[in-house]
Amino acid sequence: MSEHEVWMRQAMVMAEEAFAAREVPVGCIFVRGGKIIAKARNRTNELRNATRHAELEAIDYILSNKDLTPVFREYPLSHTTLYVTVEPCIMCASALRQMGIKEVFYGCENDRFGGCGSVLGVNEGLKHPKHPSYQATSGYCREDAIMILRRFYITENTNAPMPKSKTNRVLKTEIPSRKADKSPSPFSQPASSER
Ligand SMILES: [Zn+2]
Repeated sequence: MSEHEVWMRQAMVMAEEAFAAREVPVGCIFVRGGKIIAKARNRTNELRNATRHAELEAIDYILSNKDLTPVFREYPLSHTTLYVTVEPCIMCASALRQMGIKEVFYGCENDRFGGCGSVLGVNEGLKHPKHPSYQATSGYCREDAIMILRRFYITENTNAPMPKSKTNRVLKTEIPSRKADKSPSPFSQPASSER
């Protein structure tokens, strides 16, 4: 197992925690100096706040912790790497750039909201006069990241009080490679229209 995969396993643990809390299962960890300095998961339902994505939860923690952020610096994450199970959305990808994140590794693509190339290349494709770009690399624990999203949307559908059109859905397990992937993104699974 590569070093990146080892870290991503820890991010997956946070995604599992989100799943158990009935949140869209996305988890992340931030690593600095070979150590995890923050871990977080999606809390949008719990806090009724659509901005409470895993990445922003962790950034808030890092910035509010005096040991991790002793002084104000323009780019407080310039020595910090993010591992997140799903490609950061446009909002988070932009926040990460403004914080000067060193590098990002993620599991699966986010075809609906992805800010590291799937919808917009906020990390490096878009030119910015000031904020440095950062590299974002996909594919670590990708299948696990996709499967937990599928499991989540199937469960949500089953729990819905008035199941709509998709009552007999089965959990698909085949995962096409990224290039050949013509299937709907994991975010397009049942109940996605309500999100
Ligand atoms: Zn986000």
